[in-house]
Amino acid sequence: MSVKNITVLGSGVMGHGIAQVSAMSGYNVVLRDIDQQFLDKAMEKIRWSLEKLVSKEKITKAESDAIIGRITTKVDLGEAVKSADLVIEAVPEIMDLKMKVYAELDKVANSSTVFASNTSTLPITEIANTTSRPERFIGIHFFNPPQLMKLVEVIPGQKTAQDVVQMTVDYVKSVKKEPVICKKDVPGFIVNRLFIPMVHEACWLKQRQNLTMEQIDSAVKFKMGFPMGIFELADFTGMDVIHKATIELQIRDKKVIFPHPDVEKLFNEKKLGQKTGEGFYKYSDDKYERVQLDENLASKCNPIDLVANILNNAAWLVTNKASDIAEIEKAANLGLGLKKPIFDTAREFGIKNIVDELNGLARKYGQFYEPDPLIVSMQ
Ligand code: NAD
Repeated sequence: MSVKNITVLGSGVMGHGIAQVSAMSGYNVVLRDIDQQFLDKAMEKIRWSLEKLVSKEKITKAESDAIIGRITTKVDLGEAVKSADLVIEAVPEIMDLKMKVYAELDKVANSSTVFASNTSTLPITEIANTTSRPERFIGIHFFNPPQLMKLVEVIPGQKTAQDVVQMTVDYVKSVKKEPVICKKDVPGFIVNRLFIPMVHEACWLKQRQNLTMEQIDSAVKFKMGFPMGIFELADFTGMDVIHKATIELQIRDKKVIFPHPDVEKLFNEKKLGQKTGEGFYKYSDDKYERVQLDENLASKCNPIDLVANILNNAAWLVTNKASDIAEIEKAANLGLGLKKPIFDTAREFGIKNIVDELNGLARKYGQFYEPDPLIVSMQ
């Protein structure tokens, strides 16, 4: 199965980036949106990004022109997908909208065309089963911004054919990204299953131990190998994304997250993070601004509950045969920027200490905290 022509549905944050990286690797790309003005904006962003690469001498002007020349924009869906080998869908994360898009798409696309959804949290199998081709449907989860982030999670649905998985992995490698296969279509896939619950757990830690966000974030950065604090990362990601992901994960599995009300509260107050000037932290303008974190602040916080939380979710992925430790560490490194493997950090804190901590939390706050059998067996 070979891919030459790609259609990207949705030209927003993710769609335009996916179109760009695909065109940069030689694919013919059609970018489709519901209004030409969105497409014009997306092309402007792609041109801006390519100009930056030219000015840094990463590519030549002639290469940049050729890349732009490989992308066409279309509003008409039938026109957009008529030659597509692969359709990558990056429309907003709303199940009803995605279903509507796939119903239309299924009618106009060739029967051989593969559909790949860039959804972060919606169930691949469920969306696939609304189409006539669940065996030719797959999850392809790029990270933001696709131009820079190396990781792409590949998520086969229950019926996805093996040759479609292989084709998707080959495509991901061809655009110079690192594929990690999430072998089961589990809520949050790999990276969001590790990240989103930890945001809530950090809120609980702050409340239960009366710590400051700076103390917790410093400990996360200096004791857990994160590139920044967890509250900082949440503000960078956006409370809209985190709140929506929380709801989607909660609907499908109550064991993933122990939701803290602060996330929903910030979302309702439109304190979405960096982009609105306030989230967990306040920012003086919309430029990317870092919080002051240091080792002295880190010394005030023992983040064992956070280590326990991320380890428990990593272990759950292994126990439930969605992934293995090596692939989880690769995803955490490339998707969350972790400088230290999760299982190494856990060993530094002591697996027995973590199991004891989780059992203690389970006695106080319920079965959400029960340690996964894998970590119990690792003591
Ligand atoms: P976005 O809102 O920036 O862009 C969505 C685009 O889709 C808009 O331009 C919109 O006009 C267009 N659209 C709406 N209906 C359409 C239709 N019927 N056909 C074609 N286009 C249509 O959204 P985004 O942040 O790029 O997210 C897109 C998908 O990628 C979502 O599923 C999201 O969960 C996922 N995702 C987002 C991020 C992120 O950080 N933003 C990261 C990974 C995955």
